Amino acid sequence: MAADASVIWFRRDLRVRDHPALVAAAAHERCVPVFVFDPRLLTTGRFPSAIRTQFMLGCLAELDRALRERGGRLVVRFGRPEEEIPRLCAEVGASDLYFTADVAPWARGRDQRVVETLDGVRGHGLPGACVVDDPAAIRTRAGAPYAVFSPFARTWRTVPRRAPLDAPPEVRTPADVEAGELPSLEELGLPEPPSRGTFAPGEDAARAQATAFLRTGLAHYADRRDAPKGGSSRLSPYLRWGCLSALKLDVRVAEASGPGADEYRTELAWRDFYAAVLVHFPHVTRLEYIERFRELEWADPTEHLDAWTEGRTGYPLVDAGMRQLAHEGWMHNRVRMVVGSFLTKDLHLDWREGERIFMERLLDGDMAANNGGWQWIASTGTDPKPYFQRLFNPVTQQEKFDADGEYVRRWCPELARVPAEKLSRPWTMSVEEQESAGCRIGVDYPPPIVDHAQERRRAVERYRAVAGR
Ligand SMILES: Cc1cc2nc3c(=O)[nH]c(=O)nc-3n(C[C@H](O)[C@H](O)[C@H](O)COP(=O)(O)OP(=O)(O)OC[C@H]3O[C@@H](n4cnc5c(N)ncnc54)[C@H](O)[C@@H]3O)c2cc1C
Repeated sequence: MAADASVIWFRRDLRVRDHPALVAAAAHERCVPVFVFDPRLLTTGRFPSAIRTQFMLGCLAELDRALRERGGRLVVRFGRPEEEIPRLCAEVGASDLYFTADVAPWARGRDQRVVETLDGVRGHGLPGACVVDDPAAIRTRAGAPYAVFSPFARTWRTVPRRAPLDAPPEVRTPADVEAGELPSLEELGLPEPPSRGTFAPGEDAARAQATAFLRTGLAHYADRRDAPKGGSSRLSPYLRWGCLSALKLDVRVAEASGPGADEYRTELAWRDFYAAVLVHFPHVTRLEYIERFRELEWADPTEHLDAWTEGRTGYPLVDAGMRQLAHEGWMHNRVRMVVGSFLTKDLHLDWREGERIFMERLLDGDMAANNGGWQWIASTGTDPKPYFQRLFNPVTQQEKFDADGEYVRRWCPELARVPAEKLSRPWTMSVEEQESAGCRIGVDYPPPIVDHAQERRRAVERYRAVAGR
């Protein structure tokens, strides 16, 4: 085989548009796109997820289709990339290996090991995962990493962007490379998920969703983004899997301008912020960012954790959110904050339990954003605010953000006929009201598993006990 061959190793960048590593690889005479199914990520690691893997398989099938349209195809391998990638490079006579640089500590270590194992092959980790090429390079004037979001975001806006790239017109994959077949979930050793989620996988679906949002959602985003029933872009699974380029999305949003655009770009900046946090402070994957909170005491996971996970806490907004998560593989951001606060500050359960359950169920489950979100709501992370300012009342949050009750009634159908003024506290219905709503508390819908006012006080005491040290 001729020497001018490359390997493009796909991981969480499952698209052909604005893909610097693919463009560089496709410039070679021969180009072999590969995806390696690594059991350490899929089954034996910390955060396996059947539903997210199912979605990924759909995205990979779409990527294969897009590569075939360009004369290429996706080669699949099974095992450790540290072995599979050098082997494939040798097999196809590659001079260069390209991949999109990652931010997670484990992935960065793996990539370094792969590159070190290559024999006579150049390894190139290129940008493409975030809006800016390297979020970790955004630093204070004194050269320190940012641990607070707002100043990070101000600098982020001024960082020069590269120009988004077109998809390569051709990807010339040699015919004699054994492509293999995409496996089923079962073949990967994963169970069929209880729900497959409601997002169509792949780049085309991502682009359709982005275009629809830019056309009709963005202008109202600033006013509606906090409404759980809708108003945000629902693009997170696509950004997570790189079906959409975050840079290209940011460019399109910036072109649209207006308050919705400004607000939306701030959310994309959060994504880059947490990527940078993970690079600079990799210990957050196990430990509280704020050292003194490592001494916080957490309750033992009991039936409270099950009730939270299954959406049976008796607080309708919490239950609606957890049921949306189980069904769609996604939950609205406001509700993620409310259920997170409830877990850590009403049930006093360790934020790592919430992090784990979210990673098991979210299509967009992402180490950087999920860990960042959990530590934020547990008041243990970067961008700190006093713990008593991030203690959400599930009743008033529902009244404020789901005032018409549409979201709660959708996900908790047993509450469908509960009168509007009782929907945030169904347990205060009289027996007659319960009868006429067809919702008996304790039979059709649970009573609250804890008393928020009481638990709020306990949480403040718990945090105060270590905050002053
Ligand atoms: C406890 C908790 C856990 C979370 N776990 C994840 C996760 O695993 N993966 C994930 O992508 N997001 C996570 N988030 C952030 C946020 O909830 C989701 O990104 C958002 O709900 C996705 O919906 P959307 O695409 O409609 O968002 P939009 O409001 O339309 O925002 C656009 C995009 O900006 C990014 N974004 C928005 N908010 C955040 C944020 N706070 N942090 C990082 N990126 C953000 C996302 O990529 C999102 O798709 C978490 C938040 C909390 C509070």
